[in-house]
Amino acid sequence: MTADPTCIFCKIVAGHVPSKKVYEDDELLAFHDINPWAPVHFLIVPKTHLASFYDVEAQHQAMLGKMMVLAPRLVRDLGVTNGFRTIINTGADGRQEVPHLHIHVIGGPRPWARG
Ligand code: 5GP
Ligand code: ZN
Repeated sequence: MTADPTCIFCKIVAGHVPSKKVYEDDELLAFHDINPWAPVHFLIVPKTHLASFYDVEAQHQAMLGKMMVLAPRLVRDLGVTNGFRTIINTGADGRQEVPHLHIHVIGGPRPWARG
């Protein structure tokens, strides 16, 4: 498994930085965003370092499918019943702040702090 020692999400995956975990398996980790926009706001990340959605290739197809299938399952588990947003910020113009691929999953009753 590849990790970038400078990457905050790789540090979370390794357990060197604490997080509130929502889900974990051998390939993926989901954890609550430290600065949530809404009552439910978590991130799904691959455990292996991949900088962004821009860098996705055919070899990542199954993993991405797994991330997409996981999102609705976890929002249901967290009690979200009235819809949610999924956001993948990509690169500088896409306002990506953490360069490790992640899907934002955001939901819960409005009003939200953002979004
Ligand atoms: P981006 O703009 O890259 O799509 O979003 C990165 C997200 O990661 C932001 O919503 C930010 O609050 C969250 N984040 C950044 N650092 C940490 C951290 O150390 N722990 C957690 N749980 N979330 C983080
Ligand atoms: Zn990383």
